[in-house]
Amino acid sequence: MEYPEFELGASRCAQCEKVFDEEFITVRDNHMIINFFQFENGQDNMFCDNYCLAEYLSAETIFIKEDE
Ligand SMILES: [Zn+2]
Repeated sequence: MEYPEFELGASRCAQCEKVFDEEFITVRDNHMIINFFQFENGQDNMFCDNYCLAEYLSAETIFIKEDE
């Protein structure tokens, strides 16, 4: 699988739209790349940090209550 096409000063986080300066996070799972992300150039598979990635994937924290 190809990495997303990075363009200095133009590539943005798919979640918060921040422009990347030094690094970005990308999902490398084949199933996700083929079935979840929409853009062939990977522009929707680039994120500034794990929080934006989790947000984009609709990951949610579930708090476990011990006493109920
Ligand atoms: Zn972001």
